[in-house]
Amino acid sequence: MTSTNALSNLGAIDAAHHLHPFSDMKKLNAAGTRVIDRAEGVHIFDSTGKKYLDAFAGLWCVNVGYGRREIAEAVHRQMSELPYYNSFFGTTTPPTTLLAQKIAAHAGGKLNRVFFTNSGSEASDTWFRIARVYWKALGKLEKTQVIARRNAYHGSTVAGASLGGMKWMHEQGNLPIEGIHHIGQPYWYAEGGDLSPAEFGLKVARELEQKIDELGEDRVAAFVAEPIQGAGGVIIPPETYWPEVARICRERDILLVSDEVICGFGRLGSWFGYQHYGVEPDLAPIAKGLSSGYLPIGGVMVSDRVADVMVEELGDFYHGFTYSGHPVCAAAALENLRIIEEEGLVERIRDDIGPYFAAAWKSLEDHEVVGEAESVGLMGGLQLAADKSTRRRYAKPDDIGTLVRNHCVENGLIMRATSDRMLASPAFTISRSEVDEVVDKLRKALDHLRDTVRE
Ligand code: PMP
Repeated sequence: MTSTNALSNLGAIDAAHHLHPFSDMKKLNAAGTRVIDRAEGVHIFDSTGKKYLDAFAGLWCVNVGYGRREIAEAVHRQMSELPYYNSFFGTTTPPTTLLAQKIAAHAGGKLNRVFFTNSGSEASDTWFRIARVYWKALGKLEKTQVIARRNAYHGSTVAGASLGGMKWMHEQGNLPIEGIHHIGQPYWYAEGGDLSPAEFGLKVARELEQKIDELGEDRVAAFVAEPIQGAGGVIIPPETYWPEVARICRERDILLVSDEVICGFGRLGSWFGYQHYGVEPDLAPIAKGLSSGYLPIGGVMVSDRVADVMVEELGDFYHGFTYSGHPVCAAAALENLRIIEEEGLVERIRDDIGPYFAAAWKSLEDHEVVGEAESVGLMGGLQLAADKSTRRRYAKPDDIGTLVRNHCVENGLIMRATSDRMLASPAFTISRSEVDEVVDKLRKALDHLRDTVRE
């Protein structure tokens, strides 16, 4: 039992003992951590009792909202029956296998198999190895190079961070590892210059073709991208981008990998992000929304093309995690997917709350510090601009985003900033009035930016 004394001291204990992910610990310890100790629906509460509307669903993951008794009960039942067994030595557990079947049913088409991991980062490392063993099993020993994108996020493991295109992550730990190459991102607002979005989408897609030519088609194993870059700033690609990428991968015989860790399981109003863009990948890492973050579980969806080689040609795949397909996490995921299906949450995003959110979010474009406010489903990205008529950005974009985010948080709205972009990804259950509250509070933060910073 935690004593009341320990709870009242949590800030000091945290500073003494807890190293936080993606944090400057000196600054955090000076500012003090916020302790979140309760949540319900789309709201979280801190230890002072302050209530926040969480427009970020935890970390893009609590898609069915907080406080779902059904998931807690499914977890309790599974824990009581079988808390753990592995799937290494010719065994499986009922929820593990049934979850793989359910994922395949929603994937549609040729993605019929799943390899389970505990996280999205492990899913990145897993598909990276699968892509290489696939080509090796086919005798194409040279096909080992992987192309990814600048400003992409694929996780924090060594392969995950290498595949990601965050320079500041690469600088910590001598990354990327050998064999990973980065090309441009479809971020029209910042990098599109005088091209139309459609022209720019084609141009950056064709960087893939150029990179393949440079490396040699026979050396390239795979290309990976998020359907919409999440951590990079909710960068929504022009409509021309994905079909062109898919064409290039198909024609040049390169595996297409769609990182579905954020977009998977409904966020864009389709079960998977690749369905929204009308393409079909060969491999697709998943995590987050698979269990709505109630327990850690991820995986890689594997197409028949790749799986058939793994099954028929490879022999042993020397890869796996103690908790691959953990039965309790799988039970949580199964219950989460049941909720999404029975409450029609994907359809709700496509037909109802998604369009409502899109209109409300777009309405912020009339604000003088907003360059553009775009969304797909329940994923919104808002570009701050010092001069919207010329697409000029603020001189210190990171500070500007932080200023707006902090104003939101002080006013009870959890919102994230990536540099000078504001990001929203609320739970699928968010109501219309809660969407209005998100937009109203964000508008007040934008007013604050306009009134305090002049450039
Ligand atoms: N891929 C994408 C697209 C992500 O957004 C994330 C996490 N934000 C990851 C991979 C890594 O997932 P995890 O944090 O579960 O390791």
